[in-house]
Amino acid sequence: MPTEEIRRQVVIIGSGPAGLTAAIYSARANLRPLLIDAPADTEKQTTPGGQLMITTEVENYPGFAEGIQGPDLMVQFRKQAERFGTEFLEEWITKVDLSERPFKLYGDNKVVIAETLIIASGASAKWLGIPGEAKTPEGFGGNGVSACATCDGPLPAFRNKRLVVVGGGDTAMEEATFLTRYAGRVFVAHRRDKLRASKIMQDKAFLNEKIEFLWDTALEEILGTQEQGVTGVRLRDVKTNETRNLDCEGVFIAIGHKPNTELFKGQIEMDEVGYIKTSHRSTATNIPGVFACGDVQDSVYRQAITAAGTGCMAAIDAERYLDHLPIAMPSGDEITIEGEQLPADHSVIIMPSGEVVSNEPPSPTLDDC
Ligand code: NDP
Repeated sequence: MPTEEIRRQVVIIGSGPAGLTAAIYSARANLRPLLIDAPADTEKQTTPGGQLMITTEVENYPGFAEGIQGPDLMVQFRKQAERFGTEFLEEWITKVDLSERPFKLYGDNKVVIAETLIIASGASAKWLGIPGEAKTPEGFGGNGVSACATCDGPLPAFRNKRLVVVGGGDTAMEEATFLTRYAGRVFVAHRRDKLRASKIMQDKAFLNEKIEFLWDTALEEILGTQEQGVTGVRLRDVKTNETRNLDCEGVFIAIGHKPNTELFKGQIEMDEVGYIKTSHRSTATNIPGVFACGDVQDSVYRQAITAAGTGCMAAIDAERYLDHLPIAMPSGDEITIEGEQLPADHSVIIMPSGEVVSNEPPSPTLDDC
């Protein structure tokens, strides 16, 4: 059982661009945020710093005219959050209780009690689990293998080269089409003879002369050397089981993402895939005091800059939420910033006009946020 208890007004889970931006903003607002990130663990697929830690050069993050390495960018984010007093806790949280405020987060050694919680636990690209796919030096991840065409496609290593995109959904179509701006030829390897992608994305890809579809095709292995990077792939025809090699210099795995929300299942509203639902134009979830930002709530944009933007929003949302909580008076009554008064038993709210209203709200839903 964890023994040590830590209490904070703002607790952030996740140390990618969303979590660290939320930390920078709430630390500058003097809220002394505690940012929890999981220790690096290959089996649990945890990467402190988020997906940019497994990217090479980032050319599209504004402010870095010459580009910056993903891990270097995250060091800068972290230093900036530290500079304003963010406290970091490296702990694997195994259980959360969001049924009442303050919320409770249970780690192996500590219990964290949070007045507000900002969930920024990100999403993970799905991988095939085939030989050659792992991060370099075990495989060619970051050395010819990527799960983000927007991040890595424009790199010189892929210019005018032969690239393979795996998948048949919108992500695969979008990535394949995007890559044709730079690549010489793009092969889309899909395990069936029909795409899952929307018609408009399919049509765009079909019309693109640089794209060639490899139907009923599974990737068995990514080939290459550490010096040269990727040199080819071994393909299998899923109908005949025949295998063959295809020469290429890059492989983009585009078989979807999964949000890292397992910990919160059953406690907070999510969509059918597991992305946390937030109310439009804010980061509020269906639980008052819990906010979500970054890829954990975004299946559409999934960029570092959009994650950072929503991290800023979450910090401001949490700060405003805290500002509007009632403050205890010596009499035992509580009063809000708007002048609403709550007697000690919280049964009613006395409005500034003197009107007395019941304090038994119906269960909150997203529409109320
Ligand atoms: P999807 O789940 O829609 O598609 C995943 C694709 O990868 C499927 O074709 C699937 O094959 C294939 N796949 C999955 N697992 C494996 C595996 N182990 N081996 C080989 N192939 C595999 O994910 P997406 O990321 O494409 O899209 C997710 C959501 O985001 C969708 O709702 C999509 O519409 C949306 N999106 C929208 C975009 C836009 O509008 N611009 C851009 C990108 C995404 P199979 O078909 O056989 O199941």
